[in-house]
Amino acid sequence: MPKTFYITTPIYYPSDNLHLGHCYTTVAADALARYKRLQGFEVMFLTGTDEHGQKIEAKALSVGSTPKEYVDEIVASIQKLWAKLNISFDRFVRTTDDYHVQSVQAIFKKLYENGDIYKGNYTGKYCQPCETFLTDYQLVNGKCPDCNREVIDFSEEAYFFKLSKYQKQLQEFFNSAPDFISPPSRKNEMLKNFMELGLEDVCVSRTSISWGIPVDFNTKHTVYVWIDALSNYISALGFANDKYDDFEKFWPCDLHLVGKEIMRFHAIIWPAMLLSLGLPLPKKIFGHGWLLFDGDKMSKSKGNIVDPIKLCDLYGVDAIRYFLLREMPFGDDGLFSNSALITRINTNLANDLGNLVSRTTTMAFKYFDGLLPEEKAFEENTLREVCKAAIREMEQFMDDLNPPRALGEIWKVVNAANRYVDETAPWALAKDPTQNSKLAGVLYNLLEVLRVISVLITPIMPESAAKIQKQLNLPEHLCTWESAKIWGQTPSSNPLNKGDILFPRIEK
Ligand SMILES: [Zn+2]
Repeated sequence: MPKTFYITTPIYYPSDNLHLGHCYTTVAADALARYKRLQGFEVMFLTGTDEHGQKIEAKALSVGSTPKEYVDEIVASIQKLWAKLNISFDRFVRTTDDYHVQSVQAIFKKLYENGDIYKGNYTGKYCQPCETFLTDYQLVNGKCPDCNREVIDFSEEAYFFKLSKYQKQLQEFFNSAPDFISPPSRKNEMLKNFMELGLEDVCVSRTSISWGIPVDFNTKHTVYVWIDALSNYISALGFANDKYDDFEKFWPCDLHLVGKEIMRFHAIIWPAMLLSLGLPLPKKIFGHGWLLFDGDKMSKSKGNIVDPIKLCDLYGVDAIRYFLLREMPFGDDGLFSNSALITRINTNLANDLGNLVSRTTTMAFKYFDGLLPEEKAFEENTLREVCKAAIREMEQFMDDLNPPRALGEIWKVVNAANRYVDETAPWALAKDPTQNSKLAGVLYNLLEVLRVISVLITPIMPESAAKIQKQLNLPEHLCTWESAKIWGQTPSSNPLNKGDILFPRIEK
């Protein structure tokens, strides 16, 4: 039985302006999924869309569509974006899918039958012109955050989930699994802002919102969107539905990767639901920071949205993936600016890596017509040792969910290889026919280091890795994670292919 790895992103709210900040979570999860697959894990990488709720209903109405027609169109555009970014998800869940609806109804009923859901009254505010229900927390100066008008009080029958009942059990769990909420700064926020104040029961149904999943034993109620959304992590494995049968295999989840703004739902409400259902809790919840644009969170109202499709068309998908994972300190907020992006592309990608590939293969063609002789000399182990150390460190950083440091390790290899070219000066060796086998040895080492680099960058830059591997004419078994750990596996006379420049320089 292969080892399994189950990783999720949040399911996204269908919005027509997904920006680079949204892409960050998904690209990071994709890199981790690819990394685990490369290591031989059987991976389940889940993403999807969260399609119910009052806002969707209102938006659809405003453009004269049904909610389902409205979301169908946006979901298609989100899937197109993930295809553009090379996101290798294994499953895409939509909360309007029949099997998900079936699971959510079963989950709600189970929570109710366990005595953890009871009927009560929900009170809040309502903006009549916007037809929007609001909580006190959402109001801006006591007024509607969208239209700035006065709001009115309202009250309606609703079901509540006994979150307070799980306070002690959750606290015990957090103590027994110290890494469950990561990084530690997020854990402190959760403890301080919620646990220490005492957990309050949460409203889990509404009667005034129709675009949602009906409570099957009382159909005038619809299930609150967060209960609906969180359930996707098990509905998509086939929990309480007939569509899939992967729950035993992949649950508990290895990693829920989320943005810090939705940490509370994942770190407190979701585990409490699972405790009530009698299911094991996920192994880890990681809350990453925001991608800031000139120090501000990206949002439509601030007009500072960076369109990821445009960026990919301009600079290449791998360059964008590389930038996001290199520049965002995992866990903290990161900064986006065009000049930082261009600097990264020109230095790390064009100068360091692109140039290494280009000058190595150019020399192999110039001196040996792309086919090194069997006879080679100049055995030395500098690069081999550098690779060995970098792989060991990189594994640690990837497992710690720290892609910037993992990439830093790969670039130690790239830099060592560039130094090696300068120190061995193959162009000088080429002038002396007696140095021919030494020249072949030097070029062999460089091609072998490129093989290792191509494997290591696969999770982050899959297209570029494949391009390098095509130039090196590598069979699949020389491109696995394990094969990268063993130096000297490529046959000496492995014919090379010519290729294009990997990362063109960007003129500012
Ligand atoms: Zn309003």
